[in-house]
Amino acid sequence: MPRPIINEDDCSACGICVDACPEGVLEIVSDTAEAVNEDDCSACATCMEECPMGAIEEIEED
Ligand code: SF4
Ligand code: SF4
Repeated sequence: MPRPIINEDDCSACGICVDACPEGVLEIVSDTAEAVNEDDCSACATCMEECPMGAIEEIEED
């Protein structure tokens, strides 16, 4: 399954990716974005494109 790889050190917990993800994959947990529903990720890459910090580095396919 695809899932976004988030660099927690770069994440500002702004929530833009949470709002941008069409599948509801991402949530802010303990001051960082986390893929809480990664099974729903469609690898659309919208979160990567929208993140102002460049904190979402890649979409990994398991
Ligand atoms: S790649 Fe698309 S579906 Fe997957 S977490 Fe990012 S915005 Fe959501
Ligand atoms: S858009 Fe980027 S900086 Fe903002 S919460 Fe998501 S991963 Fe973190």
